[in-house]
Amino acid sequence: MGSQNFDHIVIGAGIQGSFTAYHLAKNKQKTLLLEQFILPHSRGSSHGQSRIIREAYHEDYYTCMIPECYRLWAEVEAEANINIFRKTGLLVIGAEEDRDFQAIKRVLQQENMTREQFAERFSSVQLPVGKSVVDDENAGVLFADRGLKAVQALFQRFGGVIHDGEKVMEIIPGSTITLTTKNGKYQARSVVITAGPWAQSLLTSIGIELPLQTLRINVCYWKEKIPGTYGIEKNFPCFIDLRALGNKDDVYGLPSNEYPGLMKICLHSGTPSQPDERDKNPSDEDIKMVSDFVSKYFPGLVPVPAVVEHCMYTVTPDKDFILDHHSTHSNIVIGAGFSGHGFKFAPVIGKILSELSLTSQPSYDISSFKISRFQSFVKSTP
Ligand SMILES: Cc1cc2nc3c(=O)[nH]c(=O)nc-3n(C[C@H](O)[C@H](O)[C@H](O)COP(=O)(O)OP(=O)(O)OC[C@H]3O[C@@H](n4cnc5c(N)ncnc54)[C@H](O)[C@@H]3O)c2cc1C
Repeated sequence: MGSQNFDHIVIGAGIQGSFTAYHLAKNKQKTLLLEQFILPHSRGSSHGQSRIIREAYHEDYYTCMIPECYRLWAEVEAEANINIFRKTGLLVIGAEEDRDFQAIKRVLQQENMTREQFAERFSSVQLPVGKSVVDDENAGVLFADRGLKAVQALFQRFGGVIHDGEKVMEIIPGSTITLTTKNGKYQARSVVITAGPWAQSLLTSIGIELPLQTLRINVCYWKEKIPGTYGIEKNFPCFIDLRALGNKDDVYGLPSNEYPGLMKICLHSGTPSQPDERDKNPSDEDIKMVSDFVSKYFPGLVPVPAVVEHCMYTVTPDKDFILDHHSTHSNIVIGAGFSGHGFKFAPVIGKILSELSLTSQPSYDISSFKISRFQSFVKSTP
């Protein structure tokens, strides 16, 4: 059986692969998006109803991308004629001496809210002792499933082809790259690997070992004692508590909306797990910690999760993304390690990955996202 030919093939139809394919097809490139599962699915990192988008970052290589992220999400809303973004604002809660908190304050150019102002605006929340708050007024919620579906539909409208239920089993590098799935062979002059928590298994097969850790995340929803107390319709904001309860990890939350009467509050971390074994031996240590957090600071919620869903993070040691060419096969482009904060950036990440596949100059300085920063870990075949 002969192979089917494309200009570009993207492996993985999560939010990063779908946006990469979208940009390529919009640039009139003949593009195939291959996905191992039947779409939509809930086994990777991009499913669920909601993600936070915010300007509150402390590294300038992220803050510089944010304005274009907002613009491109709005463009997708207009092209697909649907609503994906809802502005809610975001409270950033941190200790005054915390360097990240200080840096975020500089980015937002905001003064702290006084404890009195906070108590007046958010009488249903206890501000942790010793912590301050700033407001990221432009932040909000992205309706994730709806956004992902829209990007995939637009990709197809621009002439792109999606084959779901087709796992890539083999990648043969070369000036023309050949991929094998159960249905046959495909060839293209460039391939983008955006395989989320499965990235490492594909990368190993082409000679790259990256320090990626995959984590199983418990996504918890907490019942409001009085429905609507923390509701999106009452303009309750998202929040992030940096190093909550004195731990190394943050706790974040979104107003009740997707499940009426339930507020989403989660730990920004999880337990090591392979994606295909996500539901084996689940640990609930983090749920106990979030429950403690909820009972201390959100007295209007029942401190036992009403719904627990699951998702995966793929984390790098420095929590920064990997956006780069394969070190030996430059027509293989890698987007990985989105470390639990990549959704909001997907329109710009997709743009950068598409530029790397087209060998054009990336629109942003991507030196912080290079594989070479992990040189001591990376094994690459010549
Ligand atoms: C609970 C949770 C909350 C989050 N909250 C936020 C937030 O508030 N804000 C934010 O910006 N980000 C957030 N994130 C992070 C964000 O969702 C992820 O960074 C992003 O979804 C990663 O997308 P991806 O495309 O890299 O991975 P995935 O969505 O996992 O996509 C990878 C795809 O590749 C496919 N695949 C893998 N191997 C193969 C193969 N061999 N052949 C074919 N297909 C293959 C997989 O099936 C999968 O569909 C959150 C993540 C989670 C889990």
